[in-house]
Amino acid sequence: MALFKIHALRSDGQKVSLHYDNQSSSLTWQDGESVVEAKPGSFRDAAAVAVDQPGRKGVIRTLKVSLGLSCNYECSYCSQRFVPHAESSNPDDIEPFVAQLTDALIEPPERIEFWGGEPFVYWKTLKPLAERLRQLYPQASFLIITNGSLLDAEKNEWLDRMGFGVGLSHDGPGYHARGADPLDDPEKRAAIMDLYARLHPQGRISVNAMLHADNRSRAHVQAWLQERFGQDVRIGEGSFIDPYDDGGLASTFQTPADHIGFRATAYKELRLGTAASFSIGQQKIMDFVQSIRTARPASALGQKCGMDKADNIAVDLHGNVLTCQNVSAAATAPNGQSHGIGHLSNLQAVKMRTATHWSKRKDCASCPVLQLCKGSCMFLDGKLWDAGCDAAYSDNVPFLAAAIEYLTGCIPFYIEGDFREDRKDIFGQVHGVPDAPKTRVIPIQPVAA
Ligand code: SF4
Ligand code: SF4
Repeated sequence: MALFKIHALRSDGQKVSLHYDNQSSSLTWQDGESVVEAKPGSFRDAAAVAVDQPGRKGVIRTLKVSLGLSCNYECSYCSQRFVPHAESSNPDDIEPFVAQLTDALIEPPERIEFWGGEPFVYWKTLKPLAERLRQLYPQASFLIITNGSLLDAEKNEWLDRMGFGVGLSHDGPGYHARGADPLDDPEKRAAIMDLYARLHPQGRISVNAMLHADNRSRAHVQAWLQERFGQDVRIGEGSFIDPYDDGGLASTFQTPADHIGFRATAYKELRLGTAASFSIGQQKIMDFVQSIRTARPASALGQKCGMDKADNIAVDLHGNVLTCQNVSAAATAPNGQSHGIGHLSNLQAVKMRTATHWSKRKDCASCPVLQLCKGSCMFLDGKLWDAGCDAAYSDNVPFLAAAIEYLTGCIPFYIEGDFREDRKDIFGQVHGVPDAPKTRVIPIQPVAA
C-alpha cells in the first residue's frame, strides 16, 4: 500500500486534501468518502518480468517486424542511435521468415507493425513482405512509422491500397533535433502532403511528436503542426523522450527549475485545451479516471510500452525475437543480457531477461504517478534510468493533477507521502524552486476530457 495525501485547491480558494492509494486505486475525500463510487473490474496480475523471472511469449496479437535499424536521418535523442545493427534484411529473407512465422503463430495477429530505422530505406524488402503478409492475414491492421522523407506517389498509392495506418514522425518546431526537415524540401513536402490528403479523411494518419528539452510545449507543437497540416491534425505519441545515450541525456531537463516550469506549462495547456490535438492528454486522463472507477490494482499493471506482454512480439526477418522494435539481436541491454531473446522457430523457449518490471525498481511502487507512468523504459539502467524516471515523473504528474481536477474540481498542488521529497511540490508553489518561473494556480474550470 502506498498512500498519498494530496493537497488541492477548491474553486472557492479553500484548501482541501484527498487520499490516494496507487496500489488499490482508491481516491477519497478527507473524511474517507469515495470521490467516485468504484465498480471493481476483474483484473489479472501482470507478469513481473526480470532477469530472474524472464518474460515469455504466447498467442501473438501484435506483431512488430523490424526491417533493420538503418535510417537516413540522425535524431540526437533516437532510441536506436547507438544500437549495433544486426545483419540487414533483403528480399531473399522473406520466404524463410514467412515459413517460420506461420509455423510459430497459433492464430492470425490482429495488428502488424513495420519498423525501421526508417522502414522505406528497406523498400525493396518492405513491399513484397507486406504484400505477402497481407495475403496471409487479410484482417490484420497494418501500421508503419516513417519520417516521411522517402515517400513518393508510388509508395503513397501502395500504402493507401494496402490499408496501412501511418504514424508520421515529426516534432513540429523541435524538428531541428532530428536534422533536416523534410517539410522544407518542396518535393518531399509534396509527397508527405499527398499521403496526408489520402489518409487523413479516413483517420489513418497521425503526426507523431515527442517532447524534449528543446521542444517542451505541446501547445507550440500543436500550433506549428496545425499551420502545416490543418486545424484537425491528429497528434500521436506526445510524451517526453526516454534517454538512451548521452544525446538523449542532453535532451532531458537538467535543473529542478526546468522540471517545475515544464509541469506548470503542461498543466496549463491541458486546462486551456491548447494541446487538445494530442491524443495523449485524453488517453492519460481517462485511463486514470478508469483506474479509480474500476479500482484497478497496481498488480495488473504491465510496462508502459507493453513489450513485456506475452501477446506482443518484435521480430527481425531472420526470425530473431527481440526485446522490442528499437533494438537488434546484436545488441546487449544495460544489464548485460542480449536483446535477442529467442527465435521464432521455438517460441516456447523465448526468455526476455533484458527487462525489469516496475515492481522491481526502487521507486515505482511508492510513486504517485505509477498508474499513469507504468514505469519508464523497461531495459534502461543506471543514470539513463534515473534521468528517464525524472522525465517520466514531470511528464505524468500534470496528467495526474488534471485527472484529479476532472474528478473533484480541485487542483492538486502538493503530494505528501513516502516518496522523493523533491517531487512533492508539484508546481513549486509551496517551497518554491530557485530560479523557477513563479507559477500560479490558474482559476478553476473543469478540465475538458
Ligand atoms: S515516474 Fe519513475 S518512479 Fe514513478 S512510476 Fe515512473 S518510472 Fe517509476
Ligand atoms: S522497451 Fe519499450 S520503452 Fe524501451 S525502447 Fe523498447 S518499446 Fe521503447
